[in-house]
Amino acid sequence: MSDPSVVSLVHLGCARNLIDSELILGRLTEEGLMVSGGLEGAGTVVINTCSFIGPAKAESEAAITEQLERKAKGEIERVVVAGCLVQRYKRNLLETFPSVDLFAEISDYRGLAKSIAELAQGRSAPGYLEAGGLRAPDREAARLLATPRSYAYLRISHGCDHDCSFCTIPSIRGPHRSKRLIDLVSEAEELVSAGVRELVLVAEDSTAWGRDMGLELPQLVEALAETDGVHRVRVMYAYPNRFPWELATLLREHPKVATYLDIPVQHAATSMLRGMRRAGSGEVVKKTLARLQEEVPDITIRTTLLMGFPGETDEDVEEVIKLVQDHRLSRVGAFTFSPEEGTPAFELDGQVPVEVAEERHSAVLEARDAVLEDVQMDRVGERFEVIVDEGSERTGSAVARAEWDAPEVDLCVRIESPGLSAGDIVDVEAVGLDEECNLVCQIVEESH
Ligand code: SF4
Repeated sequence: MSDPSVVSLVHLGCARNLIDSELILGRLTEEGLMVSGGLEGAGTVVINTCSFIGPAKAESEAAITEQLERKAKGEIERVVVAGCLVQRYKRNLLETFPSVDLFAEISDYRGLAKSIAELAQGRSAPGYLEAGGLRAPDREAARLLATPRSYAYLRISHGCDHDCSFCTIPSIRGPHRSKRLIDLVSEAEELVSAGVRELVLVAEDSTAWGRDMGLELPQLVEALAETDGVHRVRVMYAYPNRFPWELATLLREHPKVATYLDIPVQHAATSMLRGMRRAGSGEVVKKTLARLQEEVPDITIRTTLLMGFPGETDEDVEEVIKLVQDHRLSRVGAFTFSPEEGTPAFELDGQVPVEVAEERHSAVLEARDAVLEDVQMDRVGERFEVIVDEGSERTGSAVARAEWDAPEVDLCVRIESPGLSAGDIVDVEAVGLDEECNLVCQIVEESH
């Protein structure tokens, strides 16, 4: 028997959306609702959707359909849909999914939690909640963290001022708005007091942080790294153009700033970058990576590549593979172009057949895997510090990360040792690789 005041959340999408999921959960508990980690026993299911590209949208729609089927069978009482899919398709979803009880656009989610509470008490609530304008870049309210104690995401700004021709994000999340430095330090302090060790900074475009307030990203990164109790700060989603080079100094010298940068470049061929309406050329991309590697000798660069964009030739793909090889890019996420309604690339000539795009995608990942194996093998025998993400209480084996791996998107470190808990910081020695190229390590010293 399900209880309508017990709410479960299905999260879809990226780390930025995970923060919204955590905010929704925080708001629900503020309203006195019970939040359940699993779907069993929950009377209300909230789906926080993603609609970045076609497959993400399809996954969100499948999740909604699955929960509506459970509702039809009487397993749950209510289905609530929030997030990017609602922000993108707005009230059109009312027609597509008439049995959804409540839709909510992206907001601070206070209204969403109130409406769910009202419905749970048998009262009526509107079936569609508008955001009432773009979300203000305010200090985030309390979140119910879904990540282990070892790390938490920190959203530093909202929206994006670029107009990449394949991307729907600016139309969903609006123009760039930085959160204030003082608010971010206060959020960091709150996360640290909850036991968080590593702050993973996310935004649609991290590089742009502060520019609407006369500041630059390195000032924020340094302030966060200097915050009491913060053990590691990691920067994700840096746009390569107008890169704030003082950040390189922090990456190289500050002990609390991970020697790591996620800098999505999308392609290496100038014609493709122009078609994508990215600032800069293939030359700028290569020079930026080369300068980063020169100024920060131990840096691990993560990037994202978009394959099969309209007009892409075999030579363009060769340029991407060469970029991966020349810069020894071992942390690479690749995806294939998906024509999205409402974006300029939707109608471009020269659309690449899906099978060809997939072959190119595989070729890039193959090049990455060859580099990855070399890079990981070079680490065997090294000693370094890791933060434990998943303790060894249950399995006797812990999962941890060194500074060169971001959570969820990169690799991890496996430690065969009992007694480790999430959030522990230990020094290890790499003794080999597992079949997925993760480093297998032994503890050398309990250092913290
Ligand atoms: S920079 Fe990123 S978020 Fe902004 S428009 Fe381009 S791909 Fe989208």
